[in-house]
Amino acid sequence: MKILVINAGSSSLKYQLIDMENESVMAKGLCERIGIEGSKLNHTPNGGEKVVIEKNMKDHSDAIAMVLEALTDKEYGVIGDMSEISAVGHRVVHGGELFSGSVVIDDKVKEAIKECTPLAPLHNPANLIGIEACEKTMPGVPQVGVFDTAFHQTMPKEAYMYGLPYDLYTDYKVRRYGFHGTSHKYVSVRTAEILGKAPEDLKIITCHLGNGSSITAVENGKSVGTSMGFTPLAGTVMGTRCGSIDPAIVKFIAEAKNVSVAEVDTLMNKESGVYGISGVSSDFRDLDAAAAEGNERAKLALDMFVYSVRKYIGQYIVQMGGVDVIVFTAGVGENDAKMREAITRNLEFLGIELDKEKNASVRGREEIVSTEGSRVKVVVVPTNEELMIARDTKELLK
Ligand code: AMP
Repeated sequence: MKILVINAGSSSLKYQLIDMENESVMAKGLCERIGIEGSKLNHTPNGGEKVVIEKNMKDHSDAIAMVLEALTDKEYGVIGDMSEISAVGHRVVHGGELFSGSVVIDDKVKEAIKECTPLAPLHNPANLIGIEACEKTMPGVPQVGVFDTAFHQTMPKEAYMYGLPYDLYTDYKVRRYGFHGTSHKYVSVRTAEILGKAPEDLKIITCHLGNGSSITAVENGKSVGTSMGFTPLAGTVMGTRCGSIDPAIVKFIAEAKNVSVAEVDTLMNKESGVYGISGVSSDFRDLDAAAAEGNERAKLALDMFVYSVRKYIGQYIVQMGGVDVIVFTAGVGENDAKMREAITRNLEFLGIELDKEKNASVRGREEIVSTEGSRVKVVVVPTNEELMIARDTKELLK
């Protein structure tokens, strides 16, 4: 069974074709500048060279048609015919409270995704366009929606409610949703496999640390708390996002700088985080280099990031009454050994002992990086959201 995984943005579309016989990626690629002049498709067949195809794509249907052409091309294609694709799995950002798992897409589901649009005004419409483009270009092929928020729908009410008037929850759905759910689910399931345990027997803290970061408490295989909130702006300090701050600061900045609330929102999303603190970059490699050269603000940004991640780890250890595994994933979590060391420093009293030498050698691969004797395991697991989407899609087709 071959499954096409689609992640549609407003002007881009990422794809992977996965062979579910052995869960291998047959080809992957990206359509850029859809509906904008200069659109192009980057396509890489497994084991082959990247091909760049420059061609006008006026909308997402054009983009999907080009993806299918690339996948079936005589020279760089990987399948003979479109009929070899059994199903399409779509990443959908927001499922609100309507979806606590993946679903086969029909008209009702599309309506529900539309209903969640006020919660993700940039993402959900783009995801829907991707779904409709596939329906048009590949009629009859089953489509599945996999939601970024779904994994967190198991949080207890006290963990997802805000201390705001209750009406805001009932009338406007203001609550914590959490994001990166597909990633947290994938790495927690994979961690249990690596340790030879059932997810139901573990208390796991998953640290998805990338440009956007979130920390999740996974107990008995279920998310019971996560650091992102109503939007992905909350939680740890991030690349350009401020993370959780005193909410009164929004009004204060708007008045002090005489700007609108929308402008403050942009400032908090795009000009803050380690980028805003350091004034150097949102990229942790640049910050490392600047800090090594003595840049105090770059060092402060990195220290603040570590502090904010540790704060959530502490919170979730208390919430779960312990922890068995801490997992690191995403760009920083998978690759930045110094960051893993800083985050787990001085936690021996909790049974967390990092094997510093081993940790320093691990980059972008699965490995247990705690000492043999460490009661709490520390594990690096590269995330694979596309595979999780493909697995859910396969499961639903059964
Ligand atoms: P992601 O959002 O998961 O793609 O992660 C992007 C972030 O990962 C960027 O801030 C990169 O600087 C960071 N990253 C990637 N590779 C490394 C590395 N080798 N060392 C430190 N940070 C890295």
